[in-house]
Amino acid sequence: MRNIGLLCVFLIVGACNRKHIDSAANCLADSKRLLVSEVVDVKTADHALIISALEGFLNTKDQSLCQNAHWLESDFKQYVYPYLDLYKIEDDGNGDKNFYRPSLMGLVKIKNTERWMVKLAFIGSRPLEGQQTVKAIYNLIAEKRESGMVFSKYMSHYVQDWQTLQRGSITYKISPLKTADEAEMHRQQLEITKLLQFYDTQAIPIAYYSCINPKELMEVKGYDYSPIMYISENGGMAEKGNIVLSGNNSEYYTHEIVHQYNAHLYPDSAPFFNEGLATYIGGSGAYDYAWHRAKFKKFVAEYYPNFQAEDFTNPYISYDYEGETAIAYLIPAVVCERTVRLYGKQKLFEILQSKADLWTVLDTVGLNKANLTEELTAELQRPLHSFDQLK
Ligand SMILES: [Zn+2]
Repeated sequence: MRNIGLLCVFLIVGACNRKHIDSAANCLADSKRLLVSEVVDVKTADHALIISALEGFLNTKDQSLCQNAHWLESDFKQYVYPYLDLYKIEDDGNGDKNFYRPSLMGLVKIKNTERWMVKLAFIGSRPLEGQQTVKAIYNLIAEKRESGMVFSKYMSHYVQDWQTLQRGSITYKISPLKTADEAEMHRQQLEITKLLQFYDTQAIPIAYYSCINPKELMEVKGYDYSPIMYISENGGMAEKGNIVLSGNNSEYYTHEIVHQYNAHLYPDSAPFFNEGLATYIGGSGAYDYAWHRAKFKKFVAEYYPNFQAEDFTNPYISYDYEGETAIAYLIPAVVCERTVRLYGKQKLFEILQSKADLWTVLDTVGLNKANLTEELTAELQRPLHSFDQLK
C-alpha cells in the first residue's frame, strides 16, 4: 500500500445542503437496490429497521459528505467526512455508476447494547466474461435511537479499547498487537519541533493510529476486505480530522504528519508538491529520504537514457522501483530539494500556495519538460541537501 496521503482533501463534493438529501429519497434504481443475504432474518423488527435505514443511507450518501439524515451527527465533527470510503463506491470507473452492488452480508448485535455491526459487501459481476469482483467488505455501526436507526463509523468502535498515549501534540492509539515504542515517540516529537520551525507555525493536534501493518490499518477504517490490504507490507494515510493512520508498526511517521501540516497551511497545494515535500522531509513507508534518494539514483542510472521524468508527474499513478521506491514521489521530492537549495524555503511555500498548473509552477524554478530529467539527474549527483540543514 502506498502512502495515499490527503486524497480526500482534493475530493470536493458539492455544497453541504440538506435539501439534496431529502429530495433523493425516491431515486431507487433497481440496479442500486440493496441485496440482502439469506442469513439475515429480515422478519426481525430491528433488522427491518436497519435495512430500511441502510437503503435510505445508500441512496443519499453521494449527495453530500458533510451531513446525512441517517448518520451520527458527532461523526462529522470527529472525522469530517465519516463515510468517504463509501463515496461512489459502486462506480466501476468505466461508465457504470452502479456496477458494485451493495449486499448486506450480516448483522451482528453488540452485546448489552442497542447496536449492531452492519457488514456490507460491494460486488460487481460480468457473467458473460465469467468475472465477479468483491470491491470491499465494509463495516458500519447501526444504533437504535428514539429517532430511528443511526449509522456511525466503525473505527470508533474498533479502537475503543486501544491504549491511548498523549505525547506532545499527538494522541496515540496503540494496536493491542504491539507495544508502543517510547524512543520512536520521542524521535517524532523532535521531528515535529523541527517541522514547526520550518513552517513557522503552531502545533496541530493529531490523532495517530498505530497499526502493525496495512491489513490492520484497513480494519481500523472498517474494512473486512479490500485488495489494498495485501499489496504492500507498509504504508499509511493522512485523513481529514487530523488523523494519521500508520501501517508501519511504528510510532514515527513524519511523512503523513507533513501531509497534515500541508493540508492546514496550504490546502490547495498540488498532489505533486504535497507528496514531494512529505517524501523530502519524511521519506516514504519505512525508509527515510536519503535511502529512497539513493535508490532513485540507482534507478536513473539503470534506465538512462530511456527514463523521462515528465512521464511520472501524477503521484497517484506510480511505479515502485525494487518494490519500495515510488518514482512518482521521488521526482517531486528531488524538485523540492533542488528548490530549497537554489531558492530557499520561501520559494517552496510560494509553490505550495500556487493554484497555477504544474508546468507553469515548475517554470518558476527553472524546470520544464525539456530539462526536467537532466536537472533531476544533476541534482542526484550532488550531496544530499537534507531537510535538517534548512533554516
Ligand atoms: Zn503521502
